[in-house]
Amino acid sequence: MTAPVASPSATGRYEAVIGIEIHVQLRTRSKMFCGCSTDFQAAPPNSHTCPICLGMPGTLPVANRLAVEHVLATGLALEAEIVPVTRWDRKNYFYPDLPKGYQISQYDLPLTQNGRLTFDTSEGPFTVGIRRAHLEEDTARLLHMTGDSGDRASLVDFNRSGVALMEIVTEPDLRTAEQARRYAEELRLLLLTIGASEAALESGQMRVEANISLRPIGAQAFGTRVEVKNMNSFRSVERAIGHEIERQAGVLSNGGDVIQETRGWDENRAATYTMRLKEDSQDYRYFPEPDLPPLKADPAWLDEIRARQPELPAARRARYRAELGLSAYDANVIVGDLKATRVFEGALAAESALPAKRVANWVTGEYLRLAKGSDAIDALEPAELGRLLRLVDEGTLSGTSAKEVFARIFAGERTAAVVEELGLAQISDGGALETAVDEVLAANPAAVEDIRAGKAQAIGFLVGQVMKQTRGRANAAMVRELIRSRLDAAPPAATAPRRPKGTPEASG
Ligand code: ADP
Ligand code: MG
Ligand code: ZN
Repeated sequence: MTAPVASPSATGRYEAVIGIEIHVQLRTRSKMFCGCSTDFQAAPPNSHTCPICLGMPGTLPVANRLAVEHVLATGLALEAEIVPVTRWDRKNYFYPDLPKGYQISQYDLPLTQNGRLTFDTSEGPFTVGIRRAHLEEDTARLLHMTGDSGDRASLVDFNRSGVALMEIVTEPDLRTAEQARRYAEELRLLLLTIGASEAALESGQMRVEANISLRPIGAQAFGTRVEVKNMNSFRSVERAIGHEIERQAGVLSNGGDVIQETRGWDENRAATYTMRLKEDSQDYRYFPEPDLPPLKADPAWLDEIRARQPELPAARRARYRAELGLSAYDANVIVGDLKATRVFEGALAAESALPAKRVANWVTGEYLRLAKGSDAIDALEPAELGRLLRLVDEGTLSGTSAKEVFARIFAGERTAAVVEELGLAQISDGGALETAVDEVLAANPAAVEDIRAGKAQAIGFLVGQVMKQTRGRANAAMVRELIRSRLDAAPPAATAPRRPKGTPEASG
């Protein structure tokens, strides 16, 4: 039976309450509690395992220092409290992807807690409270197969078993699907910026789960929540939450009760479906992990991590706007893409006299157009973009030629070499331009007549002809002036447009 659909008026009677749990694989070379390599993307199943991550009895885990550092760095970036002494707990449950029968996690003493993250939405900036960020280990991966004869089997690949995982949990502060998506996007950018995770949603390095409940507008108490998972893009995060809000509004407005459960998102059907009834935390029988000592976050260690912290996205956007004069749009686009940020900063560092706004236009325009195109490989050396834009500024290169050169430096070539090879240096030499202009005037008597008859727009046509003849290399402003002065000098030119004051008379 399909759930009754909520009318817009039904949806409008309720307010959504949303809290997000995000798991990310941390960027470490070895797993959380053993020395097995995490570099198994292209490796055969079960080739990166040892007795510890296979869960053999009697083995002892040893904590990965870098994984702890990543969580501490995340906590600092989220303005969270770092708990001075923290410990590990066992979360007990049975599933074939969990060989020990428990997951080493953190229960009541997470490494960091009470943080916040501010991000932009279409309705303005929004701040969500971060309840906690803690460390745990990933499970193995199950592959469900159907054989040739139709028999079904589930296979276990333990390569992922024991990979360091960070769970970040928000307060139930979010109210709309858009806020939830924007939070997830901003958190991902933050994690990429501090290097804590590769955080790709498609490959499961970042997994977003949304807890959603509805309450009548004006009510204080929270309603029963549903947890939604299996969203593997930011777009599906927003869509899944939107649909789940509508589904719950339909249930409630028809007098029904929302059941506490875990639902999966089906992208093709654009609907959520029941996966299992939600466990309560007492079902997991958490207890302290006896095989690992408590962990102390030494203040000197924290200082070190703090000192290494790069500029965070929010601070970078603010600096681009306040100090470099970029628009909010440009700052968002550039900061939202780590490679664009690197290109922008690198080009400006190489040519600090360039106007930042101009560099920003190239990064948000040409650069991102090529970088997001499917086939071009980005091998751009940022300083080369700086050099290219300086040539444009100096008048050595026309705008058209600059785009041609950019396509090649994007593929890894040097600006100077390409300009040289293509013979693209802009013609600003008066003599060469005069020759070209005279040829074009002689070849287009009708346009010349038009201009003399007062049709000033015909000048544009002649400038175009000169550009064509010089393969875009002529300095267009100089060509326009030359044409004007040539026609001015020749009688009768009573109705020809006047040249600007101070322009030298044409010679001859
Ligand atoms: P669990 O232990 O089941 O993971 P938590 O209490 O830790 O549950 O909460 C998980 C997430 O659910 C958090 O992000 C929290 O903000 C959110 N949450 C809790 N109660 C509700 C509710 N009634 N509606 C929406 N989200 C909720
Ligand atoms: Mg949870
Ligand atoms: Zn191992």
